[in-house]
Amino acid sequence: MIGVSPKQVKQTAADSLLPAGVCFKLVQTPGRPRNTTLTKVDHLIVIAPARPPPSLWRELPGLKSLQPRTRRPGKPGASRVLRGVLGNSATAVTLGLLPPAAARSHSSLPNTFKLLAFAGELAAAALGDEPRSVGLVVHGLEPADAERVAKAMLLALGAHSWQAPAFRKEKRPATLKKVELFGLPAGVSLQRTLAEIDAANLVRWLTALPANKLTATAYRELLATLATKNGWDFEWLDENALGKLGAGAFLAVSQGNAGRDAGIARLRYRPAGTTSQPDLALIGKGIIFDTGGTNAKTATHMLDMHTDMSGSAVALAVLQVLTTLDASLSVDCWLAITENRSGPTACKQRDVITASNGVTVEIIHTDAEGRMVLADTLALAGREKPLLMIDYATLTYACVHALSERYSGILSNRDSLNELLIRVGRESGERVWPFPMDDDFDDDLKSKVADVSQCSIGGEADQILAARFLQRFVPEGTPWIHMDLAAATRKDGLGHVPGGCTGFGVRYAVSLLLDHAADLHELATPVLRPRHR
Ligand SMILES: [Zn+2]
Repeated sequence: MIGVSPKQVKQTAADSLLPAGVCFKLVQTPGRPRNTTLTKVDHLIVIAPARPPPSLWRELPGLKSLQPRTRRPGKPGASRVLRGVLGNSATAVTLGLLPPAAARSHSSLPNTFKLLAFAGELAAAALGDEPRSVGLVVHGLEPADAERVAKAMLLALGAHSWQAPAFRKEKRPATLKKVELFGLPAGVSLQRTLAEIDAANLVRWLTALPANKLTATAYRELLATLATKNGWDFEWLDENALGKLGAGAFLAVSQGNAGRDAGIARLRYRPAGTTSQPDLALIGKGIIFDTGGTNAKTATHMLDMHTDMSGSAVALAVLQVLTTLDASLSVDCWLAITENRSGPTACKQRDVITASNGVTVEIIHTDAEGRMVLADTLALAGREKPLLMIDYATLTYACVHALSERYSGILSNRDSLNELLIRVGRESGERVWPFPMDDDFDDDLKSKVADVSQCSIGGEADQILAARFLQRFVPEGTPWIHMDLAAATRKDGLGHVPGGCTGFGVRYAVSLLLDHAADLHELATPVLRPRHR
């Protein structure tokens, strides 16, 4: 076990693998916007209801040239994006007319996904000519709705102006430096929205890194740097330490690596004055490259397997948001970091291993490595007796087949949570759907030689079998939520995020933990109990 106190951490080459940080400078200018101020930005985005009120043309006279075009009916319920120039100025303008379903925040289940997708469409249109500064005016909506729409627009600008890591000489396009929000009430706090943007972009950044750059060693060093920056305790359980802990399930995967640098990271966030027992354990699958192991994948399936660590990046990013917002809950974050390689030392089908909680596992398919590394990570996290456990993993193709990449699957050892879990997906715009967890699914995991089979060779309902398998490593009595990240990457983008890694899961957890603490308390666990600090 290597304990690293934040002060001992040296700057290393891995630091250059971290994103530059902060997306853009945000300026809030309250009060009614004036044309002279608006023309100071390179590009102005104006958002109004599908049928803009006459006041829009009075208050923003520069928009008059767009007025006739707003009268042409579009497809019912669809958003409309109109491009033009603000009056006689050089400021380009994009006018977005909100689809009614996206505008409503009062309905019992707000359709935040629709709003984010609309904001993404606007951001793509506005950033097309590479403005350095963008202004935003939301007109004709109730204050609460205007705030919701402005936040969605910020999220979309943060996602669209982000640039993936690249290792080439070609010059990159200009980036957005400043966003000015006009007319929002002065008291509106945007700190959480900005933290969510940075966190989602951290996930996208880490997930986009090639596996020969984000090696286990580089990942460990990068975590040490983030720990220093955020004031987290950082501990790295290397293979030796994991051997002593009996973590045979993790080691069955990492034994195939060329080097001995795999391990489980533990990051600890404790608000001032709190005890050491964690309220929450976040757990993430960090397979930095997944060849499939001895049961190797085909080239097509292996191509993007450097993204198989995105669950770990999501867990890390949630921790970052909670820290930035000074959340009053203590959090442990456990990341299982290794490659899954083939070769003479790799594990094989029918091998039997013993996990750290004593459960013996018969290996059925070496490409089901995610549940192996998570098994020990969940067991170790559970020893600390957290009040709630949440894990993230790009775990099964079965989940993608069932839901596509638009939704992620969610499974829990508390049936009572399902309604809340769906609701949080609707509210955050990161949509999830629960799968059943009945115990007769365990029949498919029976083994003649071990306590449990790792999976079934048929692969039917594998997302459920994976969750049933993982549940054996969660302490009885501890509420646990498992997100199978089918929506971790999507070629055509998702909601406000353009194509590639989506950062899915960050806003979901933040909404669950911060907006629904009372529901969680009632349904599962007193996590986030009120505290005096
Ligand atoms: Zn795999």
